[in-house]
Amino acid sequence: MENCIFCKIIAGEIPSNKVYEDEDMLAFRDINPQAKVHVLVVPKSHFATLAEMSEAQSELVRKCLVKIPAIAASLGLADGYRLIVNQGKDAGQTVHHLHIHILGGQNMGEKML
Ligand code: 5GP
Ligand code: ZN
Repeated sequence: MENCIFCKIIAGEIPSNKVYEDEDMLAFRDINPQAKVHVLVVPKSHFATLAEMSEAQSELVRKCLVKIPAIAASLGLADGYRLIVNQGKDAGQTVHHLHIHILGGQNMGEKML
């Protein structure tokens, strides 16, 4: 997808601090971390929201979810972590390529879940 920053990161056109990659997904550190550990897990297929997701893309998301515990363990998040998947304008989604935020490395508190 042209002009999608995450597609460019997946393609290696924009550098990223990768923490995990396979044929289905890329995980890299957020450029503007909102917690001590803040990683984005991105399926290697362009779609913006769950509402736009095809069946094949849902399989990639399933694989991301299955892999996240191992990614979190590799990041040292033994005491837990928070996942956030922003959907659209009211959620403040700024990159319109579905991504799962992993936030942790600290007590995340009780604000907003
Ligand atoms: P959203 O608000 O769409 O759920 O989250 C998008 C996230 O992507 C933000 O946390 C933002 O900091 C991150 N981000 C935007 N551009 C880049 C980039 O070029 N590199 C990296 N590593 N993260 C980015
Ligand atoms: Zn994209």
